[in-house]
Amino acid sequence: MANDWVARLDRLIEPLQVKPGTKVTLGKDFDPRYKADFVRKKDARDFLRTGVTLLAEYQARLAAEASRGVLVVLQAIDAGGKDGTIRHVMSGVNPQGVYVSSFKVPSTEEMRHGYLWRYVQRLPGRGDIAIFNRSHYEEVLVVRVHPENLDRQNLPAADRGPKLWQRRYREINDWERYLSDNGFSIVKLLLNLSKEEQRVRFLKRIDDPDRNWKFSAADAHERQYWDDYQRAFSEMLSATSTEWAPWYVIPADRKWFARICASAAIVHTLATLNPQYPEVSKDIRRELQAAKRELEAEAPAGQPADPNEAARCR
Ligand code: AMP
Ligand code: MG
Repeated sequence: MANDWVARLDRLIEPLQVKPGTKVTLGKDFDPRYKADFVRKKDARDFLRTGVTLLAEYQARLAAEASRGVLVVLQAIDAGGKDGTIRHVMSGVNPQGVYVSSFKVPSTEEMRHGYLWRYVQRLPGRGDIAIFNRSHYEEVLVVRVHPENLDRQNLPAADRGPKLWQRRYREINDWERYLSDNGFSIVKLLLNLSKEEQRVRFLKRIDDPDRNWKFSAADAHERQYWDDYQRAFSEMLSATSTEWAPWYVIPADRKWFARICASAAIVHTLATLNPQYPEVSKDIRRELQAAKRELEAEAPAGQPADPNEAARCR
């Protein structure tokens, strides 16, 4: 049953993966309104519920195994749905093993360091899932669209040339390769929103007082750079979707569909790792049995030694 679902979820995300080595143009190759034929909105709840359940099960095993970790990278244009996706997709997991980091405009201290420094500190440990809400990819997105961010980074003059972006792509790929070689899987999700749907979501944020906090005039201003962002996204996807850390472009105009796709991509990554509860050795099992006998011998008079039976009597 679980395997059937993993296969269905795999089928769902297969067309969304950016094949490593291919050159893609976001606006031409990926449709923000795409929804796979075999998933109807009324089935969405089943898909998401199953995704959430599988994720919880895999996360428990990943934590118990404690030898590998998973990094989920979430990128999107403003109003793309990153926060809601995290809230829904991760709703079933044990918060002890999941760490969400949201990256904003870098602080002065962060700017004093190499551009990957602040992301390194938020990487998952063995057994953890870390989610980057925005990520090191901002360093080739917002920083590229607004070069004044580069000025604030105070790079040596020789580093600022036309080759800068190619170099950053290479460095990011190398860094992710190192992480993957050391037991940390990376899954990268770009929530792909249409310009029209962004307009509608901004209007909702303005009209609904409970959503006002999510909107700033700067967001509307940023919309002027829509085409620049689309170009930066396309180049980023083409240069950094690798065998070891692939990008998935998630159609984001329908929130329900975006959520099941995001959940499917994360489940796929975990299912590929297939973490296992650790095997208990014969020696340890013998120690456990000895401890059990001691605990049973301590049972108060008249109480069954077996805890299950004791619970039934209570
Ligand atoms: P939000 O995610 O809406 O809270 O906004 C966070 C803001 O931080 C966005 O406007 C991002 O573009 C900005 N931001 C995130 N990372 C960086 C970065 N590395 N350099 C400059 N701005 C960034
Ligand atoms: Mg925002």
